[in-house]
Amino acid sequence: MPQRTETDSRKLLRRLRDEMSVSQPGQERLDRITTIISDSMGVDVCSIYLLRDPETLELCATEGLRPESVHVTRLRLGEGLVGKVARLARPLNTANAPAEPGFRYMPETGEEVFTSFLGVPIQRLGERLGVLVVQAKEPRLYSDDEIYGLEVVAMVIAEMTELGVFVGEGTSFAATHKNPLLLRGVTAQEGEAEGHVWLHEPRVVITRLVNDDSRAELKRLEDAVAQLKVSIDQLLVTAGSRDKEHQEVLQTYRMFAHSRGWMKRMEEDIRLGLSAEAAVEKEQSTARARLETVPDAYLRDRLHDLDDLSNRLLRILTGQGNHTGAEMPDRPILVARNIGPGELLEYGRRLRGVVLEEGAVGSHATIVARALAIPLVINVPRITTEALTGDHILVDGTEGQVHLRPDDSVTTAFRDKMAMQAKAQERYAVLRDKPAQARCGTRIRLKMNAGLMADLPSLPTSGAEAVGLFRTELQFLARENMPKRSELVANYARVLDAAKGKDVHFRTLDIGSDKVMPYMKRPDEPNPAMGWRALRVGLDKKGVLRMQVQALIRAAQGRPLSVMFPLVATASEFTRARDILMREVEREDRLGHKLPEVLRVGAMLETPSLAYAPDAFFKEVDFISIGGNDLKQFFFAADRENELVRRRYDTLNVSFLTFLQVVVDRCHASETALSFCGEDAGRPTDALALAGIGISALSMRPASIGPVKSLIRRSNLNEVSELIARVQARGLENARPALLDYIATLVE
Ligand code: PEP
Ligand code: MG
Repeated sequence: MPQRTETDSRKLLRRLRDEMSVSQPGQERLDRITTIISDSMGVDVCSIYLLRDPETLELCATEGLRPESVHVTRLRLGEGLVGKVARLARPLNTANAPAEPGFRYMPETGEEVFTSFLGVPIQRLGERLGVLVVQAKEPRLYSDDEIYGLEVVAMVIAEMTELGVFVGEGTSFAATHKNPLLLRGVTAQEGEAEGHVWLHEPRVVITRLVNDDSRAELKRLEDAVAQLKVSIDQLLVTAGSRDKEHQEVLQTYRMFAHSRGWMKRMEEDIRLGLSAEAAVEKEQSTARARLETVPDAYLRDRLHDLDDLSNRLLRILTGQGNHTGAEMPDRPILVARNIGPGELLEYGRRLRGVVLEEGAVGSHATIVARALAIPLVINVPRITTEALTGDHILVDGTEGQVHLRPDDSVTTAFRDKMAMQAKAQERYAVLRDKPAQARCGTRIRLKMNAGLMADLPSLPTSGAEAVGLFRTELQFLARENMPKRSELVANYARVLDAAKGKDVHFRTLDIGSDKVMPYMKRPDEPNPAMGWRALRVGLDKKGVLRMQVQALIRAAQGRPLSVMFPLVATASEFTRARDILMREVEREDRLGHKLPEVLRVGAMLETPSLAYAPDAFFKEVDFISIGGNDLKQFFFAADRENELVRRRYDTLNVSFLTFLQVVVDRCHASETALSFCGEDAGRPTDALALAGIGISALSMRPASIGPVKSLIRRSNLNEVSELIARVQARGLENARPALLDYIATLVE
């Protein structure tokens, strides 16, 4: 067979392009393509295998194999040489196919007479679609140019499939982006939502695959890369030295953008006949396919960087920005690889839910999603490649899973579940103005957690008596630079206005750990959760703490004010923080500002150490709020953000309850007001146990108030308390089973 030249590839691509422009049924088009390829490459066989489902390849068209085997021959992924190409997403080139490990003889195809084999994956952006194979009787190895040329053709076929060209009568290929998919991830915010996908970074649509003039196309690529380099350099200047991680990513971008290897491969693709954008996407596809097989986290990150860079380049080449002109669908569900808090806040309340390919339970995005009270599922593999803007999607935040393009039965079941929850919410609405008074007569104060102005409208409708925790850091996180004092004053004043006289516990800045302000230099810490965070930062960087308390005092304008400090580990830390606050009160007084009518200063108990602080501390502090999320992580030494351990220890573990009782007893002895504001307060069974051991104020997300109130009103807290005491006396490890049995006996 003669060696093929660059011009052959170009001719072949042109013929394929012409073929694409003719309207004909999918099967005929597939058949024509195999004929054109075998003809142009001078081989005996050309076959197209497409994935019928994620595990099965089907011979969909062939020139040279027996026609009866079309739609009959099937292979599992990894089976035979074709299956191997699909699984490894790499070309396989052999002069003696039957001698190749894994060769599988398929009598129906009559392929034993063909000795040489070249198979290349058909893939798009890391997504397997099938395999393109050429075979010949003559035992020969295919040249690098031929392999490359066939890969380029496979790329064009992948794009055609993507465009739905093959979908038609008689074609078994189930088009990608059409199948229903169930994807499992991790719950970051509970709740359910139905809606339509809104891709945060929509895929660039490539309409021109083949070029007419390679030279002009090479120039387009060169210009686009030059523009890309300039934009990265600009980003590097803007990033400055503030954020080391951001800098590192940009430096990697820069390295790739200047990489000759990357450029050379794309130039080669263009010489073979691809358009510049198709060449960029081909390299992007190869990198994504590699991503799946790279176990090393660092390398995976770098391949992700290359992916991002390719997207930027594609946007430059096609002129498609983030806004492709697509209308945001109704009931939008945001789908992204990851998203910052600022961007998420910009979408705000328009969103019904969020699905992320990456993300972390304690990340900013999670905090914002919580504040927006929309379900969030994170770590959902492949969601950004599988989903298209406008796709129907069901987000099950409670189960941590996502149904993409669900079929009718799944949708019906999901809607039933949502309807049941809505019914329950209606039942809870009836309780809105009723107290959380247990059958024994004890009243529990239910409060809500908030962090954004947007949360405040829920205050009257949720049935909460107060805001037990206002996380002030959100205003600091979701922006490019430190807010000014005047902005803080305005914000806090609006919060107090919206609370209409109900108490608001403002927590001073709780940054550090996962909550990073983009504009503040952050030390490299081996374990940030136990590092320089929360009040520790406040005491070292007094300027920020002072500015914040000044703003709170001014915002109160004489109204009562409650301030609490996060992560107080020792009594002296509290005293120092309170002294800073009191000095500011004096200063504000001197400056002639109105002082709060009542000022209450509290501490968040989030480390076991504070439970054993001297009596004087309990007398000195106006109130204590247990930050159960952090307290639990430090009590059990189990990172709250680490999926491997975060659910390992139960809040109703008797050791933890016994420890909490120590805090309750100390607060009772000193008559210090005590509340609990971790996530567990919003889980009805857990809330009941907390109330049972004597914690009489619970602060939770607004949607939990109804369910918690309903359960407390049906319970007798004396019985709960006795039950926990019995579990302790019997030496059991966990009070949950007994408590669940008890709840089952309660009348609805
Ligand atoms: C907590 O730790 O329980 C808490 C309420 O604070 P955060 O979740 O913001 O750390
Ligand atoms: Mg905390």
